[in-house]
Amino acid sequence: MNSTPQYDALVIGAGINGLYGLYKMREAGLSVRGLEAGSGVGGAWYWNRYPGARLDSECYAYTYHFSPELIEEWTWDEEFAPQAKLEAYFNYVADRFDLKKDIDFDTRVVSTVWDEDSNLWTVTAENGRTYTSRNVVAASGILAAPLVPDYAGFGDFKGTVFHTSRWPSEGVDFKGKRVAVIGVGSTGIQVAQTVAPEVAQLTVFQRTPNWATPLNNYQFSDARKMEVKEKSDEYYALTQSTGGCFLVDTDSRSTWDVTPEEREAFFEELYGEPGLTFYSRGFNDLFTDKAANDEVCKFLATKIKARVKDPETARKLTPTHGFATKRPPLETNYYEIYNQDNVDLVALPEEPIVRFTETGIETTDRSWDFDIVVLATGFDSITGSFVRIGAQGVDGIALSDYWEDGPKTYMGIFVHNFPNFFILGGPQGVNGNQPRCTEFAGDWITTCISYLKSEGIDRIEATAEAESVWVEHCNELVNGTLLRDAQSWLWGSNVPGKKRAFTMYIAPQTVYRDRLREIEANGYEGTELGDKILVS
Ligand code: NAP
Repeated sequence: MNSTPQYDALVIGAGINGLYGLYKMREAGLSVRGLEAGSGVGGAWYWNRYPGARLDSECYAYTYHFSPELIEEWTWDEEFAPQAKLEAYFNYVADRFDLKKDIDFDTRVVSTVWDEDSNLWTVTAENGRTYTSRNVVAASGILAAPLVPDYAGFGDFKGTVFHTSRWPSEGVDFKGKRVAVIGVGSTGIQVAQTVAPEVAQLTVFQRTPNWATPLNNYQFSDARKMEVKEKSDEYYALTQSTGGCFLVDTDSRSTWDVTPEEREAFFEELYGEPGLTFYSRGFNDLFTDKAANDEVCKFLATKIKARVKDPETARKLTPTHGFATKRPPLETNYYEIYNQDNVDLVALPEEPIVRFTETGIETTDRSWDFDIVVLATGFDSITGSFVRIGAQGVDGIALSDYWEDGPKTYMGIFVHNFPNFFILGGPQGVNGNQPRCTEFAGDWITTCISYLKSEGIDRIEATAEAESVWVEHCNELVNGTLLRDAQSWLWGSNVPGKKRAFTMYIAPQTVYRDRLREIEANGYEGTELGDKILVS
C-alpha cells in the first residue's frame, strides 16, 4: 500500500461529536474528512425525528461554547428544545463554519481496516467509496444502532412499522389511527404522550416500567432569551465544575441528614423543577444507599398513584428497580394519558406478545388491530455503532470480536490492537452533557494527532496493560454503586445475546479531564508511540 494517506484523519459521524472533531482538526491545519451515513448533520437529532422528540437537558447548556459569535447569533426559545430546533442548530453550526464541504453524506462506513506495514487505515463505505487515512476518529454515537425486536410474524403485518430512530422526514399522520407503541424508555414515553391526544386508539406495550419525572419545560420570554446568551460564560463555568457537565450537581446532604418532612419537601421541590434535576441534584447517597434510593421511589410511586386514576394501571406503571439505576425518562402529562378511554397499557411480563399478525398484535390474552406500530425499542447502545464500522486492527482482529465480552478501551479513547484509532464520544470515556464533554475530548484528540504529525510519529497504540487497568477501574466504579444490579442499555442487557458488561465511566468528568491532561503532559503515557513505549 502507498504510505502517503489521503487524509490525516477521517471522522466517522457528523453528529455532536463528529462535527466538533472535524471543525477542531481542520482549525489545527490537519487534512480531515467527515463521513456520515445520513443525508444531513446532527446525529441523534437528525435520525430521531419521531413525534415529541425533545432534549431533556437545558438547551443553552447543551451547546458548543467554542465560538462567542455562535453563542451570540443563535437564540434558544425554550428550556428544552424540540428535535427540529436542534437539527436546525447543528445545521447552523455546520453552515456557519463551512463544515459540510468537508463531509461526505450518505456514506455509511462498513469497513475500516488497519495496515500494519504502512500504518494507515483504509475505510470503505457501503456506497463503494474508499479512503486512506493516518488516523480514524470514530464518532458514530452511543445511541445510534437501532434495536428491532424479532417477533414471530413480524413480516406479516400489513400496517406501517416505524423505528423511532429511522423516522421518515416527511412525518407520519397519526390522526384517527390505531397505534401501538412498543417500549417505554425516554423515547417511547415522548411518543406516547405526544400522539395520545390525536389517535383513535393507543396501546402501549411496556416490558419494564420506568421512573419518569416531569420535564417542566417552559417557553422563554424575550428577556430570558437574552439572558441565556449573556450568562453563557457563567453557565459554561458551572458545567465545567459538575460531575456530568450539567448545570446542577448532587446535593451535599445525605438522605438521612434531614427530617422526613424536610425530605418530602425537597422531593416536592425537585419534582417541580425543570429537567433532570431530580436525579442530578438529589441527595448524595442516591446511587449508593439502597434505603435512600427507596425513599425517592416511595415518593415517585405516590405521584404515579395520584396521577393515574385506575389503581391497576398505576400498579403496572410503577417500577421495582431503584430510581436512576437506569437512565430515567422525563415526561409531560405522560401518566395522564392512561386516564383517557382510548389508551391502554399492556404489561408484557404479565401478558407477553405471542406474534404479529397481518392486522396487528396478539398477546397471550388479547389481540389488537393497528394501523401503525411504533418501535421505541432503543439501541444496540454504546458499542453497537462502533462495531458496525467494521474495524479490523492489528493481525485483522475485528473490534466486534475484541469487544465480545464488553468494550475495552484506554480512557474511552484508545483501543489496544487498534493503532491510530480514536473514539470521540463512546464507551468508558466522556459521560454526561455531550457537547460539553466533546469539546474537551475533541481538543485532546486533535492535540494528540497534531503532536504525532509534527513529531513524525506515524503510530500510537494503547498498551494492553494501560487498557486493562482502565477497564478494571470503570468496573470498580460501577460496582460501588446501585447501578451494578441494573438491567439497562448501560449494561447491554437490552440486546438479546449481548454479553452483560458495564460500558461507561461514571466518575466525575472533572476527574476524567484531569487524568487526560496528566496523560498528555507525560507524553501520552499508557501508549506506544512509534517505536517508543511509554508505560503508565
Ligand atoms: P431505551 O431506554 O433502551 O428504551 C427502550 C424501550 O423498549 C424499553 O422500554 C425496553 O424495555 C423496550 N424494549 C426493548 N426491546 C423490547 C422488546 N423486544 N419487547 C418489548 N419491549 C422492548 O431506548 P430509548 O427510549 O430510545 O432511550 C435510549 C436513551 O436515549 C435514553 O435513555 C436517553 O439517554 C436517550 N434519549 C434522550 C432523549 C432526550 O434527551 N430527551 C430522548 C430519547 C432518548 P426494557 O426496559 O425492559 O429493556
